[in-house]
Amino acid sequence: MQKKIPMRTCIGCGTIKPKKELVRIVLTQDGKVIADRTGRAGGRGAYLCDDPACLEKALKRKSFARAFHMQIGPEACDRLKAEIGGDNAG
Ligand SMILES: [Zn+2]
Repeated sequence: MQKKIPMRTCIGCGTIKPKKELVRIVLTQDGKVIADRTGRAGGRGAYLCDDPACLEKALKRKSFARAFHMQIGPEACDRLKAEIGGDNAG
């Protein structure tokens, strides 16, 4: 029997990748948007490549608004920018 790898679509670039290669972005019950690297946070989720370019695309395309059925604020944008790729490198 073949092992099934769960696949998810990046809301930035639209690429379908194995779930574990993507970062889960969660809108928590109290309205916070966080990068959930444990995959355990409750709430509405969306998936993104661990790449700042995809985050930019998602923000430009308002993919988060579509995924979460609400606009995300500048605070949430900043938090995601700090969490996805970029700031940890170098
Ligand atoms: Zn992507």
